Amino acid sequence: MKINENTAIQNLMDLLAAKGPSGGEGPVAEVVKEKLLSAGCDPKWIRENVGKKKLPKEFTLGNLIVKIPGTIKAPRIMFSAHLDTVPICQGAVPIRKGNLIAPKGKTGLGGDNRASVAAVVTMAQTILKNDLPRPPITLLFTVGEENGLHGAKAFEPSEGGNPAMCFNLDGSGERGGVIGALGAIRWVAKIHGKSTHAAVSPEGGVSAVIIAANAIADAKAKGYFGRIDKGAIKGTANVGSIRGGEADNQVMDSLTVTGECRSHNPASLQKISNAWKTAFEKAARGVKNNAGECGSVEFITDSDYRSFKLKASEPVVKCFLKAAPRAGRKAYTQVINAGLDANILNEKGIPTITFDAGNHHAHDLNEYVDIPRYLEACELATVLATEV
Ligand SMILES: [Zn+2]
Repeated sequence: MKINENTAIQNLMDLLAAKGPSGGEGPVAEVVKEKLLSAGCDPKWIRENVGKKKLPKEFTLGNLIVKIPGTIKAPRIMFSAHLDTVPICQGAVPIRKGNLIAPKGKTGLGGDNRASVAAVVTMAQTILKNDLPRPPITLLFTVGEENGLHGAKAFEPSEGGNPAMCFNLDGSGERGGVIGALGAIRWVAKIHGKSTHAAVSPEGGVSAVIIAANAIADAKAKGYFGRIDKGAIKGTANVGSIRGGEADNQVMDSLTVTGECRSHNPASLQKISNAWKTAFEKAARGVKNNAGECGSVEFITDSDYRSFKLKASEPVVKCFLKAAPRAGRKAYTQVINAGLDANILNEKGIPTITFDAGNHHAHDLNEYVDIPRYLEACELATVLATEV
């Protein structure tokens, strides 16, 4: 079944022009709803604002979930795409330049992830307008992906009718089916020292900044900063922010350092995180004042998302590989170094593969959507929904 290319491109233009920063996806969700309703979607199939209570307080909207009844007896499948775009894309005006869509002014485009949203919408319109034979299909439009996979984390499989598999559309650049991605831990080190007058009694103070400096230098010297490749332990680590201190004439007694670690291997990830914890604790014990008092540290970790790797035997992988060539795409899979809604959906027990919808240079002023590649994604989604 061929999609209507003009409609597909119009969908993309309309969705790119809609506002929708992370936590403020209302306008773009409205455009999605209007398009589905005008294609014959029953309002009863739509659930809005799902999972709102589990989202950060400032979020104005929850996930948008659409459950399209099947016409054949088969397990339910799901398509997902995040609605939000990053701050650099706010105010984007999309314009067509030959086979590309680019931003008119100095903004990003928001093709991450509106190209994906548009492809899912185009697929749904195609099957509804032509009443194509299909299994029950869930569309999951998540909120707040860019600032922490919030919508996916708030989603419960039962809200989507417990789908057997999911095709997530996202990403930047041309990719195969993403069957694996890394996991990440965010950490916060709260360092406590002792404040004294910096000139009258510096010996009596315990400086939190010296503890932080020693800890970071120690972790770096041991190979736990930047790209980490220590035999079995592989991944990355970064220090993202340092905040502390009150006055120049006061020994700094409190300082907070934040950072992250990432790895494809859960054991490696834990070891990297532990190495940072050890470095801070050792540094806190090592900085003492003239009374022998040392500093202390609270090292708090939060599992941002877990790594996953789908087996080649998974039905979702087989379906993708079978469908890709029918939509003009090469059939291959790959593993990437980033976190996606798919990390969370896989963690929640829904085998999820991710493919791109033709967006390039995400989070960048040079962002653009390649129209032929986008149309392939619309076609691929339609083949997945109706033929495999
Ligand atoms: Zn994205």
